[in-house]
Amino acid sequence: MTIFSKIVRGELPCKKVYENDEFLAFYDIAPKAKVHILAIPKQELKDFNAITLELMARFSAFILEVVEVAGIKQSGYRLITNTGAHSGQEVPHLHFHILGGEPLGAIV
Ligand code: AMP
Repeated sequence: MTIFSKIVRGELPCKKVYENDEFLAFYDIAPKAKVHILAIPKQELKDFNAITLELMARFSAFILEVVEVAGIKQSGYRLITNTGAHSGQEVPHLHFHILGGEPLGAIV
């Protein structure tokens, strides 16, 4: 079981931003920006390679609600999902990093 599944089950604490039946958003423990939120499906999927179009549609709607709740929808934000060894993915549970709250340096 992943760290994030333990958070979903309430076995590890998190600073929750928002949730619904299928997804959970919480603050990253080691923030890389003023606002750094992780959005995850509660279902344990390893990474973006496991996504379906239907799940991605619902996940996108959820992320749009998260950025609204976090107050960064208008000021802007960056979405990142690390996938697999070359990305440096640390937690093998599909998640999007939502970074914002301040100007972010260009990375691509
Ligand atoms: P990744 O490298 O894309 O797998 O990112 C994993 C992220 O999870 C990192 O930014 C970590 O800081 C974050 N993280 C690890 N453990 C926790 C935790 N218990 N609560 C919140 N964020 C965490």
